[in-house]
Amino acid sequence: MRTCPVCASRFPNFLPLPAKYFEVFHRLKVFYSLEDFETLNIGQYSCPACQCSDRDRLYALYIAQFLPRPEGRPLRILDIAPAPVLSKLLRGLTNVQYRSADLYSELADDKVDITDMHLYPDESFDFIVCSHVLEHVPDDAKAIAELHRVLAPGGRAILMVPILTTIHETDEDPNEKSVDERWARFGQDDHIRMYAKDDFLGRLKKGGFAVESFDSARFREGAFRMHGITETSILYVGSK
Ligand SMILES: [Zn+2]
Repeated sequence: MRTCPVCASRFPNFLPLPAKYFEVFHRLKVFYSLEDFETLNIGQYSCPACQCSDRDRLYALYIAQFLPRPEGRPLRILDIAPAPVLSKLLRGLTNVQYRSADLYSELADDKVDITDMHLYPDESFDFIVCSHVLEHVPDDAKAIAELHRVLAPGGRAILMVPILTTIHETDEDPNEKSVDERWARFGQDDHIRMYAKDDFLGRLKKGGFAVESFDSARFREGAFRMHGITETSILYVGSK
């Protein structure tokens, strides 16, 4: 039996990654396989009950076990480009102040450009979720600096991007106009970058973050398998 840590449903298996992804990568004869991404479970991808992805489930495990709690006041959360099910989970936690931010989505509380979040004062959040955003942003260094600025000392930030484990240099080009080329080089039509692991971690450190890695050994034995997360998955949490 598998269980979803986001919605608590139980079932034999999660649903696989939709076939359209395999079709486009096959058609474009890309140089990598979907199995080469560090945190992506192509066989057990989305929850049949709440539609959360494997990375959402990884964040839910972290939140349940490691979320920092300031004493005597609510936990101030900033959720960037919120995923609906994870947003619901965060808003449902006890004693939190939740804000969501997005450049485009009307569903977010605030319309915010991640490279210029002047709406938020320095050090105004204790916990930030920034998942699969930076690979869309041309000036990711500016975005990382802003995330660091608004995080309070002692705070934590989930900082996740797609990481291709088979490359050792990041490939980026905000001016790539071909949709097929963006799929092939960056993994999606609206990505402008494919991160190599060491380079991504280097960019976070350069932006001031201390980065902690949460792999399967940090969680209960068998937890990743039960919750549909691959053994190679790693959660990166920045602190200040
Ligand atoms: Zn679920």
